[in-house]
Amino acid sequence: MSEPTPSIEVGNPEPASPLLWLDPTPPQLPVKMVAADARKTATGQIKGDHIELIVPSHWSNRFKVEATASLINRLQKQFTKAWKTVSHHINEGTCLVRYPTVATLGPYVKTLNETTMQQKLARVRLGHAKFSRLAQMNCKTRVMTVSMFSAVDVPETALRYLLLHELAHLTYADHSKRFWALVGQYVPDYKLQSKLIQAFHQVNVYHAAACQTRLENAQARPPLFDYPLAPAQPTYLPTTDLDAWTTDDEWDEFEAEQEPLQLQLL
Ligand SMILES: [Zn+2]
Repeated sequence: MSEPTPSIEVGNPEPASPLLWLDPTPPQLPVKMVAADARKTATGQIKGDHIELIVPSHWSNRFKVEATASLINRLQKQFTKAWKTVSHHINEGTCLVRYPTVATLGPYVKTLNETTMQQKLARVRLGHAKFSRLAQMNCKTRVMTVSMFSAVDVPETALRYLLLHELAHLTYADHSKRFWALVGQYVPDYKLQSKLIQAFHQVNVYHAAACQTRLENAQARPPLFDYPLAPAQPTYLPTTDLDAWTTDDEWDEFEAEQEPLQLQLL
């Protein structure tokens, strides 16, 4: 007799999802400009709830504004697109899942792996990556790290894709044709799901950052909802047999390596 498959928790046990308050009108992101010496080009990145521009300090104020207009426009467009994608799915009543702890995400990943690729997975961790990686697989240690912002209040189909993408890296470390063929065996619409998880990740990061900004502005009003704010120090939870929390050092290094969207100016 085969053992019954453990049930996968896919419901949303906390109905008070912050996404339910999603304004259909995408917010206009404020721009923070930082002047830096020894720079020849301007770079920009969406930092949660605002756009951060780093510009050469020798530029005149007028040129700083003129030269970065198209960069700001591109970043705002990208954010608006993500916001509209999320808004559309909320309105359509897409089932969202939340796995805010390793204790809930771990068993989900374990069952997903057992019923699909059956990779040798050592551990699952939750990180707080905001600006680059949604998840990552360390192929040497076989440890999978998933950003909190990809695991909470996201469509189940999109999270499933992300996890299978990471599991597939245990067979192919790169993003070759063979890699995508393997992912496609389990997620035929992986291109769509990839866009979906990126959009939700970005809007989740926005919400957390906006919440943090509100708190920092000392409006002394607790948030309406229990949203996972990135703690200054990683939280340590009791370990389970499958997984454990570790420090985010390795993860932060990965974030630091990422190059922001570049605008080249002569
Ligand atoms: Zn990948």
